[in-house]
Amino acid sequence: MHWSTTHVAFILQVVPELAITPIYILKSDETDTEWEPSWMAAFSPLADLQSQGPLESLGLWRGRGICIIVRNDFETWSPRTQAGTLLHEVAHGIEHLNQPDALCPKVNLSPVARELLSGCESEILRDAGIDRNILIRGQHGSEFVRLGFHLYWRARKQVILCPNDLQFLHSIYSLSPERYEDAEAALAYELARSVNLNLLRLRTPPAEFLRLFT
Ligand SMILES: [Zn+2]
Repeated sequence: MHWSTTHVAFILQVVPELAITPIYILKSDETDTEWEPSWMAAFSPLADLQSQGPLESLGLWRGRGICIIVRNDFETWSPRTQAGTLLHEVAHGIEHLNQPDALCPKVNLSPVARELLSGCESEILRDAGIDRNILIRGQHGSEFVRLGFHLYWRARKQVILCPNDLQFLHSIYSLSPERYEDAEAALAYELARSVNLNLLRLRTPPAEFLRLFT
């Protein structure tokens, strides 16, 4: 049994609507995708394809899905840091799944995606004039924060967690921590019903929630 099995099971307990999507969790040493020592975990839309070879060797590959890479010392982290970090990356994964053609077959990838698959992501971004910090801020926008709230709301029934464990409020991200209570109030109605909602099919967010991001 791969070490990630119990962690994948935890994710499915929190987000049962992901049951039809393969979920992979690998340590950075188990794959050869780009990795910065300062990162704790990472999700990228192409990480599954970038790790297809190692996943096949481990007997885990079940087709395109959400692939989360974690730092090698993941198993030494506290359970709440493990859970919070994984759910942060799952929020990115769900946000990605909500895009059209999110898990399209390799042959249908766009030229840029193909380039990212074969080259070094940092260099390709730099060549395209993309600032990684601006990119990170853009990747933690209102949709990500909304998903973070739902995952936190659901998971805290199973593990001891606080919002900071999921890192969906942070000075470099788009919702400042001072607005946490306003955001919680704006989402109160849907959070109370979260387990009955499908996070892959959320409706338009409340206007008072979106206003907090302007
Ligand atoms: Zn993130």
